Amino acid sequence: MLATVGASLVFTGLIVWLYVGRNMVGRITRLDASMRAIADGDLDAEVPVEGADEIGDMAGALRTFRDKLATTQAELVQAGKLAALGQLSAGIAHEINQPLAAIRHYARNGGKFLEQGRTHEVRGNLTKISELTERVRQIVSRLRAMARKPGKGLNEVDLGKVVGNVLVLLEGAVRDCGAEIKLDIDTRARLVLAGQVRLEQVVLNVLNNALDAVREATQKTIVIASAMREGMVELSIADSGSGISPGAREQVFDPFFTTKEVGKGLGLGLSISYNIVKDFGGAMTVDSIPGGGAMFRIRLKPATGGAGR
Ligand code: ADP
Repeated sequence: MLATVGASLVFTGLIVWLYVGRNMVGRITRLDASMRAIADGDLDAEVPVEGADEIGDMAGALRTFRDKLATTQAELVQAGKLAALGQLSAGIAHEINQPLAAIRHYARNGGKFLEQGRTHEVRGNLTKISELTERVRQIVSRLRAMARKPGKGLNEVDLGKVVGNVLVLLEGAVRDCGAEIKLDIDTRARLVLAGQVRLEQVVLNVLNNALDAVREATQKTIVIASAMREGMVELSIADSGSGISPGAREQVFDPFFTTKEVGKGLGLGLSISYNIVKDFGGAMTVDSIPGGGAMFRIRLKPATGGAGR
C-alpha cells in the first residue's frame, strides 16, 4: 500500500517536473531572452507567443510593446533627419538661388547675343544654362532622397557616394563657414553593409557638427577618410574645432545632450546616429585629437566579407 502511494507520488512529481521544467520554465526562459534582446535594442528579436495562459498573454504584450517601440524609433529617426535638413534649409535655398540667378543672367545675355547674330556666344550661354540646371536638379534630387522614409534592409553601400551626396547638400554651408574639406576615401575601404539614406543621415549629422565646431576656429579643416581596421571599414571625420572635453565625451551620444544655444541644437543628432550605426552591426566612437579638434569614427561591416573592396 505504502509502496503504491509512494510510487504514484513519484510518478505525479515526475509529470509535474516534466511539465513545469520542459514547458513553463522553457517558455519563461524564451520570453526572458526576448525581453533582454529588446532591452538591448534588438527590435527584430523574435517573441514566441505560445499557449493561452498568463505566459502567452505576457508574450503577446511584449510583442505589441516591441512593435510600438520599433515604430516610435523609426518616427524619431525620421523627425531627427528632417530637423537636420531644416537647419540646412537657409543654406540650401541660397544654394538653389545662386544658379537660378546665374541662369537668368545667361538667358538675358544670350538674348542680346542672338539679336547681334553672335551664335557662338549664344551656344556658350546655353551650355552654361544646361550645366546650372543640372546642378539645381542634383540638389533637389538629393534633398528628396534624403527626406524620404528609409527602408529597413541592409545592402551594399558605397561610402564615396554617401559622402558625395551629403556634400552636395552641404556645399553652401561649407562655403559660408569658410571650411576646407579634405577627402581621402580609400578605394579598398568603401563598400559597406548599410542603408544608403540612413548612412547619409549619420554623415550629415556628424559633418553638420564638424562645421559648427570649426566655425569660430582660426583653422577650419575637416578631413573625411576611410580605411580598413581589424576587418571593418572605418569612416573617420576629423575637424580642427575646439574639441570635446573628457566629461562631455561620455555624453555626446546621449539623447538631448547639447551645448548649443536654444533653437540651434536638439541634442538628438548623435544619439540617433549611434543607434543607426548599431543597427548596421557597426559602432560609432569619438576621440579628441591632440592639439584640438574631434574625430568621429564610424565602423561598418564591409559589404564583401573582409576585403571591403
Ligand atoms: P546637437 O548638434 O543638436 O547639439 P548632437 O547630438 O548632434 O546634437 O551633438 C551633441 C553635442 O555633441 C553637441 O551639442 C556638441 O556639444 C558635441 N559635439 C558634437 N560634435 C562635435 C564636434 N565635432 N566638436 C565638438 N563638439 C561636438
